[in-house]
Amino acid sequence: MELKKPPSYSSTPGTQRPSQPLQQYHPTQCATTCTHEIHRSAPAHTPYCPACITKSAKTNLEFAQGKLLLTGGLDNPPRLRDADWKRANLVYQTALRALEKVRKKDQLRWERENAWDAAHASSEASGGQITPYCNVCTSVSTEPLNTSLDRVQDDVAWWEKPGGLASYLGSPTPPRSRPPRPKSGTVPAGRGSSMGYIVRELRAALAASESEQREWYRRYETECAVRRKYDLGENSSFEPTFWDSPISSAKVRELFHEAQEIKLKNERFARGNKLRPRPPRSSLSRCETAEEFEIDEEFKEKMRLEEEAEEAERMEREAQKVGEEVGYLYWVGCMNLVEEWKEDFLRSNHNLVWRDRMQPPEEMALSEEDTIMEEA
Ligand SMILES: [Zn+2]
Ligand SMILES: [Zn+2]
Repeated sequence: MELKKPPSYSSTPGTQRPSQPLQQYHPTQCATTCTHEIHRSAPAHTPYCPACITKSAKTNLEFAQGKLLLTGGLDNPPRLRDADWKRANLVYQTALRALEKVRKKDQLRWERENAWDAAHASSEASGGQITPYCNVCTSVSTEPLNTSLDRVQDDVAWWEKPGGLASYLGSPTPPRSRPPRPKSGTVPAGRGSSMGYIVRELRAALAASESEQREWYRRYETECAVRRKYDLGENSSFEPTFWDSPISSAKVRELFHEAQEIKLKNERFARGNKLRPRPPRSSLSRCETAEEFEIDEEFKEKMRLEEEAEEAERMEREAQKVGEEVGYLYWVGCMNLVEEWKEDFLRSNHNLVWRDRMQPPEEMALSEEDTIMEEA
């Protein structure tokens, strides 16, 4: 990129004086720190002019170059490159990059300012009416601008209105305020250092917010409990300070009794000073005890017979059930008796009927009986 020579803003007798409207819209500006004249389109807060910035970058580079030369220079053989050389080389490379950056920015700024100058020059040549704002800037700007100074918009905040903020009396760049550096080797005192101050402030703020939160939670919890207990609606409200010293239970009870008495008094007055009507007799008063209840002998006998009949019927039902399901557990007898019980035998479960072959032979011979065992 071809770097062009940046223009000088110092007012020399040869340069053309700006016309009156340009001076009105864009007055001559000075850098806030180095106080050199800068371009009219530069922002109000510009600490250094472009020349000073370039000069500073060049000085830095020269200083770094000198340091590097003292440690051996750029062409130092690798075996001689020690820590000092590396540090100096690093500083030199950084300064080189910074100067390159400054040059690029300077070039862009110079082009921008040229375009600005050309636009304003053509506007002046064509002439025009005197307006409160620069015609070129208002046509370039996309934001809607108020064309009347007298009309003050109502929807803007007070600090955005013209003259709303106090104007700066001195330099718009405030002097740099730095806390005194602690001496090297000494531990910064907690009370004196700014960090200690910040920590103390933060702790105090934290403690205050925590206590406020606790208070709020306690109040909210109590209020919720009271509202739930007495079924209070939205229309009953409490003062925030009420829960700091709530009314004691004794006092509440006293007030409640007073209210009850007043209510009863009013009711009595409404009745015409008569006694209250007595409530109807309770249904519990008609109760009778077991001793008072009398039973005659005939009824007793009838009840006993009924109970006996019921018991007999139950026994019969049980016996029938056992006879059907269980049958005979053990049966001994001659074979002709089998004929007599044949029907029951056939009805029985034959898997459960077996002949006891382990019976002693003399007994078998003696009686010639079958042993039928049936299990439930
Ligand atoms: Zn300067
Ligand atoms: Zn302008």
